[in-house]
Amino acid sequence: MIVGTRKPFEEIIALLGEPVGNRILVLGCDSCMAVSLASGEAEVKELIDELREHSDALGLGWEFEGRTLKRQCERKYEERVSELIDGSDAVVSLGCGVGAQMLSENFPLANVVPAINTSNMGAPEARGIFKEKCMGCGDCTIHRTAGVCVLARCSKALQNGPCGGTTDGKCEIDPETDCAWATIYDSLKRRGRLDDVRGLVPPKDWSRSHSGGVRTVRVG
Ligand code: SF4
Ligand code: SF4
Repeated sequence: MIVGTRKPFEEIIALLGEPVGNRILVLGCDSCMAVSLASGEAEVKELIDELREHSDALGLGWEFEGRTLKRQCERKYEERVSELIDGSDAVVSLGCGVGAQMLSENFPLANVVPAINTSNMGAPEARGIFKEKCMGCGDCTIHRTAGVCVLARCSKALQNGPCGGTTDGKCEIDPETDCAWATIYDSLKRRGRLDDVRGLVPPKDWSRSHSGGVRTVRVG
């Protein structure tokens, strides 16, 4: 899933600036960002409460609407609230960077304010704690490394590791983080497959990554 966190309130206020009118729509998303505890109904209401308090304190007279979409990144769900979007002076997006961009693209006159900092593709470890797992390189090679992505999980993205800085299975860059290569070693040893990493891993095909420019994926 895509992982993100809500921006601090002061930053959202700064991005909002002085809207041309007083109608503010806060738009959440019921997919990844909701799992990130950043954009479900509760978070939409929470942000509206904070904005209302700010508006009342400064006598701004802002009026609020709040909705969540099944997926903010899809036009068909955005269109279900098109009248609300068109009738708003600012749309505060609690979707990920994709959702906020699609709002802007599909509603060219909307003043879209991004309220989420999108971080990575990760997995939940515990409630509210997510670890990065994938960087979307376009050439998945985790079969060579016991199902562990070294791009996302090794601080130096070493295709051939470890680096020599591992201490007690932890990364030298961050002692709170497992060393990806220690994890790979333990996993392969458990499976009796250490031979998998004895040779050099060949270079990846970076032409499929973002380094090759904007990517378009066609399916079906
Ligand atoms: S190798 Fe590439 S596609 Fe596979 S998990 Fe890592 S970043 Fe994602
Ligand atoms: S200690 Fe492990 S995870 Fe950290 S940079 Fe070195 S090989 Fe990568």
